[in-house]
This record gives sequence, structure tokens and C-alpha cells, in this order.
Amino acid sequence: MNTLQFQQQSQTMSQRHLYTGKLLATLAIASVASTLLISGVYVFQSSLGWASGPLAIMGFMIYLLVIATITGVDWRGFLTMNGFLKWKSMTGKQRLIVGCLFVVLNVFVLGIYLVQAYQTYRRYKQLEPLRRQRKIAEQEAELGMIPRTEGNCHRCHQPLQLGAEYCAYCGERVTERPRICPECYATTLPDARWCPACGAQLDTSVLSH
Ligand SMILES: [Zn+2]
Ligand SMILES: [Zn+2]
Repeated sequence: MNTLQFQQQSQTMSQRHLYTGKLLATLAIASVASTLLISGVYVFQSSLGWASGPLAIMGFMIYLLVIATITGVDWRGFLTMNGFLKWKSMTGKQRLIVGCLFVVLNVFVLGIYLVQAYQTYRRYKQLEPLRRQRKIAEQEAELGMIPRTEGNCHRCHQPLQLGAEYCAYCGERVTERPRICPECYATTLPDARWCPACGAQLDTSVLSH
């Protein structure tokens, strides 16, 4: 991933609320459980008898708890479905209609919102190694830590950074790969010209710079 993508992704993420994995999982399970409970009570009303009332109330309570938690944590993101609903640019009538739909179709709104929250969470997790690396690099730069060097580039003779894959001055590949014989697949030294196992001539054109 390049820097631009990293910045763009960080930006979109910073606009959304970042949930912890635990809270997000709890909210997802609770919303599914409450929806199942309410619809289950509705379907099996007759066979549940007296229990259907308390079960339905329990379902609604769990659902309200989920909505209350989300509203408490990120009311702006939830009410706009993370920027999808642009309340400010709506007329009074439109607001009324969208507001009613928001309430009536709340289960779907909640579902979409939770998926968005999960995407944000996953993207944040994916960028964690890069963020960690950035922090280390910034701290090292702050402390004025200059990377240690070892040996010189065989092409431009500048010092090589310890553990470098490429020369920092000319871009030459530093870590040498062993060669593989195309005839018998024996491995040999990076600058070998002949296979040590079967004597086949190795392609030396790739060695010349
Ligand atoms: Zn070099
Ligand atoms: Zn060979």
C-alpha cells in the first residue's frame, strides 16, 4: 500500500467512529438476538402463551439498549448512517419522510450501520503494522537515530544500511539470491556461471549491470 492510499484510508476512518472489537461483537450479537427474539415471539405467539409478553419486552429492551449504546457512542454517525443521510440539505418534508423511514426500517438501518462499523474496524486492524512502523520511525527520527550501515554497494560503493534489501543511493538490489540451475534445479552461488551439480551453463546475462 502506498502513502497516498494510507492517508486516504486513515482519513475516511477518522471520520467514522472506531469501535473496539468487543463492543462491536456485543452490539452485533445483541441486535441479531433481539431481532430474532421479537420475530420469534411474533411467529410463535400462540404456542408461547403467557411467555410471549415478557419475551417480546425482553427483545425490545435489548434492541433499545443497542440503539441507546450506539447513540451514546456515535449519534452523529448513526443518524447520518456515516454520512449517507444528508439531513442538512433536506427540506422539512423530506426530513419528515426520511425520519419516519429511519424509525420504521430501523432494523435495516442498524444492520447497515454495524456493517460500516465492522469495515472501519477491519481496515483499522489491517493498517496496524503500518501504523506501528510509522510510530517507531517517527520516534527514531525524533531521537536522531541514524540507521547503522554495513559494507558498501557493489555498484555505487555507497555505504549500505544494515539489513537493507536495496541500496539507498542507487536502488541496486543488495540481498543476493542464490541461483537455481534450470536443468537440474540445484542451488548455487549468486554469481555462479556453471551449475556445480550438472555442469550446465547458467544464464549470466542477468548478472551484468
Ligand atoms: Zn548503490
Ligand atoms: Zn544443474
